[in-house]
Amino acid sequence: MARIVQKYGGTSVGDVERIKKVAERVKATRDEGNELVVVVSARAGVTNELIARAKAVCAEPSERELDQLLSIGEQETCALTAMALHGLGVKAVSYTGAQAGIFTDKVHTKARIQTIDAKPIENDLKQGRVVIVAGFQGINEEGNVTTLGRGASDLSAVALSAALKADKCEIYTDVDGVYTADPRVVKNARKLAELSYDEMLELASSGSKVMQSRSVEFAKKFGVVFEVRSSFNHNPGTIVKEEVAYMEKVVVRGVAVDKDQVKVIVSNIVDKPGSAAKVFRALADATVMVDMIVQNVGRHGVANLTFTVPQTDTQRAVKALEPVLAEVGGGQVAVHENIAKLSVVGVGMKSHSGVAATLFQSLAAANINIELITTSEIKISVVVDRDRVDEAARVAHAAFGLDTL
Ligand code: ASP
Ligand code: MG
Repeated sequence: MARIVQKYGGTSVGDVERIKKVAERVKATRDEGNELVVVVSARAGVTNELIARAKAVCAEPSERELDQLLSIGEQETCALTAMALHGLGVKAVSYTGAQAGIFTDKVHTKARIQTIDAKPIENDLKQGRVVIVAGFQGINEEGNVTTLGRGASDLSAVALSAALKADKCEIYTDVDGVYTADPRVVKNARKLAELSYDEMLELASSGSKVMQSRSVEFAKKFGVVFEVRSSFNHNPGTIVKEEVAYMEKVVVRGVAVDKDQVKVIVSNIVDKPGSAAKVFRALADATVMVDMIVQNVGRHGVANLTFTVPQTDTQRAVKALEPVLAEVGGGQVAVHENIAKLSVVGVGMKSHSGVAATLFQSLAAANINIELITTSEIKISVVVDRDRVDEAARVAHAAFGLDTL
């Protein structure tokens, strides 16, 4: 007998037929003699729809009321899943986040979990009940409902796994697991049997969004091993866990593409201490998320700063920079939209040399120009022409032997 936490995402509980399928899967796991806690998301699209309705009645809805409203999406699927299990003759009970003992801080719409009182769930498990928990929500010390940030049903599942000392945490979604690249772009992409938390985090920040990043950080912090797998088939998924020595044998684990970036160039600013500080202070104050940064070597006392920001932050970035230009000695701002970021990720980079050379050579052979480069311990990212980034991904995927592994 094992204690298992399963989480089903929005598409897996997208309509009543799918909820019934989830109930069958839960029953099968239960029938094997396991203790089971099931976390569910809202039906796909419901959270967005609720936000749209809130905005239709008030331009700036109160965050407390938003949480009241958004939490109902998960409560619907949670109660329906319990009912579907009853229909199959399985003892089950549904809980809101509050009823499940998930206590958070007071920050509405992106609350942090502070403690979980596992007693109520423990008690149900002892009585042989399957416990269904509404994901994405908790309660604060004032008794108000809070939500944990978009995509945070994953976090509910990981946090409950830690609190309940579960033997297994399974994240059911609409893809088979984490791939070496997006299979829609790279036809030879393969599903990874396992990868480390850090690789998963770097892949997520590089454009392959399978799971909410905060949940992966939480899992890393508390050592929760989890498996990402599909609720639509029985294929084994991808296991995400602490790095182990043999993982370093593979130099590059995966290739990710992010087409949601634009390049901003601030040119002809005075090359003296404080210029970069002023530029990036202004961007930070406007909550622009800056990613890659390159400053060229100053000539004749002037320098250029080039960086990337998410497409949605472009206007905010340009507006934030206007007042700063005079302070840094004039200068112009230019935006280049037609770029994308390609990243190669792998913990093996720590112990192998020549990774950058291999990447750059493969792109050179395909005549793809590199505009910006950044590296971390386990990632190399380059900015290339957006029209050629898919090809760049295929070329890099092959160059690191991922086509044939
Ligand atoms: N329903 C929430 C959202 O759409 C939480 C989740 O699905 O994980 O963000
Ligand atoms: Mg989700």
